Amino acid sequence: MVTTHNLGFPRIGQRRELKFALEGYWKGELSEDNLQQTAAGLRASNWRHQRPLTLAPVGDFSLYDQVLDMSATLGNLPKRSGKADDHELDRYFRIARGRSPADNDCCGVHAGEMTKWFDTNYHYIVPEFDADTRFSLNSTRLLEQLAEARAVGVNAKPAIIGPVTYLWLGKSKDDTDRLSLLDDLLPVYAELLQLLADNGAEWVQIDEPILVTELGGDWRHALNLAYHNLKASPVKLLLTTYFGQLRENLQLACELPVAGLHLDATNARDEVSRVTDWLPGHKVLSLGVIDGRNIWKTDLQTTLDWLEPVYQKLQERLWIAPSCSLLHVPVDLNNETTMDPEIRSWLAFARQKLEELQLLATALTDGQNAVARELKSNADAILSRRNSTRVTDPQVRKAVAAITPELGRRKSSYKHRSAIQASHLQLPRYPTTTIGSFPQTKDIRQTRLKFRKGELAPEEYHERIRAEIRHCVEEQEQLGLDVLVHGEAERNDMVEYFGEQLEGYVFSRFGWVQSYGSRCVKPPILFGDISRPKAMTVEWIRYAQSLTDKPLKGMLTGPVTILNWSFVRDDQPRKDTCLQLALAIRKEVLDLEQAGVNIIQIDEAALREGLPLRQSDWQTYLDWAIEAFRITSNGVKDDTQIHTHMCYSEFNDIIEAIARMDADVITIETSRSDMELLDAFKGFQYPNDIGPGVYDIHSPNVPGTEQIVSLMNKAAERIPAERLWINPDCGLKTRSWEEVIPALRGMVAAARELREA
Ligand code: GLN
Ligand code: ZN
Repeated sequence: MVTTHNLGFPRIGQRRELKFALEGYWKGELSEDNLQQTAAGLRASNWRHQRPLTLAPVGDFSLYDQVLDMSATLGNLPKRSGKADDHELDRYFRIARGRSPADNDCCGVHAGEMTKWFDTNYHYIVPEFDADTRFSLNSTRLLEQLAEARAVGVNAKPAIIGPVTYLWLGKSKDDTDRLSLLDDLLPVYAELLQLLADNGAEWVQIDEPILVTELGGDWRHALNLAYHNLKASPVKLLLTTYFGQLRENLQLACELPVAGLHLDATNARDEVSRVTDWLPGHKVLSLGVIDGRNIWKTDLQTTLDWLEPVYQKLQERLWIAPSCSLLHVPVDLNNETTMDPEIRSWLAFARQKLEELQLLATALTDGQNAVARELKSNADAILSRRNSTRVTDPQVRKAVAAITPELGRRKSSYKHRSAIQASHLQLPRYPTTTIGSFPQTKDIRQTRLKFRKGELAPEEYHERIRAEIRHCVEEQEQLGLDVLVHGEAERNDMVEYFGEQLEGYVFSRFGWVQSYGSRCVKPPILFGDISRPKAMTVEWIRYAQSLTDKPLKGMLTGPVTILNWSFVRDDQPRKDTCLQLALAIRKEVLDLEQAGVNIIQIDEAALREGLPLRQSDWQTYLDWAIEAFRITSNGVKDDTQIHTHMCYSEFNDIIEAIARMDADVITIETSRSDMELLDAFKGFQYPNDIGPGVYDIHSPNVPGTEQIVSLMNKAAERIPAERLWINPDCGLKTRSWEEVIPALRGMVAAARELREA
């Protein structure tokens, strides 16, 4: 039998049990025992689902984050978490979530920094290092869970983050070279592997996903050093890579002295034959043949067609698995009882993916006849998806084929049109505005929920949303803001709202995926060609505009962000999907313009996070992403002012692409960086208007007028004052009106002061 295994299973639970247990515990409503019971229950149930596998992962479960778990295992929780003999779970959550001074008799603790896990939407807690960092083993969690797994009756394979990737993921808090810590780190890994062996582990999955990134010579050297050092360990190491191709690291990955290598064969199919050639004869090759990042059924026949010859060649040296941990997909499709059955038949969530794996293994070992019926039903589903008229819309195809560069070009240059806009809009210097959303009160959420459940008639719902818009516009007028917004009360989420109104999308009910800690997202599923049957936002925005003489800014989400925050189809390049989205949103832009909306903001919050892992692939992505944005935004007349917004601040390496978007105004996050981030714009001589955020909406702190004036003065040292706007860092939907009013009042006062200066 071909060996089957899994790299990780979703831990949040099919009904988000872990989320609710964690949040209950944090609020003090649930005891630690109860929390641990829920966690143990989830682990046991996850292992039961994985019992058919030859090897199931242990240590993939986490109460918050697997990288933070590794920090705890290596005795590297930051000192501010508390003393070594403090309550362990307290120390852990202090770093996971921070602690405010109010919760505590002495002082606050700031949380560990959070950042994206490679190119996924999962966020991990960044390990912290300094010159004093010393590692020491705390193996309790892994050993306990190893015993639990065995009690459930799985063949357990501990899964840990490898030493070099661990250092790579972290940040040095002084100028200590992270690699200088390797010497101290390796003995702790050796000790851990020994203990795992003593406790019966035969194989250990050791993740080194940095092997799919561009590595400097020092990091490649560190990998060599580390694995030569761990060679003596009594367990067999499965060196595990995922999320991409090995490329220039292929030979290195094949040659490191371990017992096996896992390759992401969904991304690196082309490398399989080179790897089989390079890999020494005593090593196992694990192929990730099922996409762990997407929700589509695997085409089993096609997979078998290329896998069978590999099996012929490698025989029992071939293992199969999902491409990466299944953390990035929802748990169980069987819960989706209300989803359109045809589309559901094309999908596979974590449990279904493991069933596919089992089928592949049986077909390889016992021949395809052994699973003929299952293969037939898989082939039917694949065919039904391929041929469905719901997937392909000839008109959309035609429109995409007819795209010309003109479609993405404004009529005139920024200089020319900004003069026209200035005379039209008559805005003062340092115009003030917001990013779009205003507080999403309990009432608003109730209203939307009731409407969804059919408890509120459409007319009643519309009247309530109009009332929210009226309130929001009145508040903004009273504050004296210059460019108003409608407040986004009708939107649950900036992507889902549009997805629901576009053809080509379906929605799951329980398709939650962990984003960080207890937070989950439910990405909409983009399955077909995208079109916009009718206007999506015009009614609300026109209504808002009718309430005020001030210019009102219409609010849309851009194509790149919609793409990056959805599960998207795997049967065409992302670029093609993005262009379809661009054409659909472009229609909305033109309808808004037609309706008399003179300022339109197109949010691209997720543009940066779509960047490929390797910098050498960036340009290709940026080229089509920027093209998609331009197609969306640039069909308007000179007098229409296009804004875009991005809620991050690292622009250094993408500034040229940002400039190519040619938005008249860009609003960005900057308040926490003291405006230093504008240096990128200054250095590039970025030509258009910029609104650097002056109010950190992630914090309950209300900035004072003086602070805002000082920030804007710093901004004006970098960008000519006549091109500066004043606005918060991001939308205000998570804040309360009590916080928002004084903050915006301070902002408006700061603008007045700056104009008089
Ligand atoms: N317009 C959106 C809002 O204000 C933008 C959100 C975002 O950038 N994440 O909420
Ligand atoms: Zn934002």
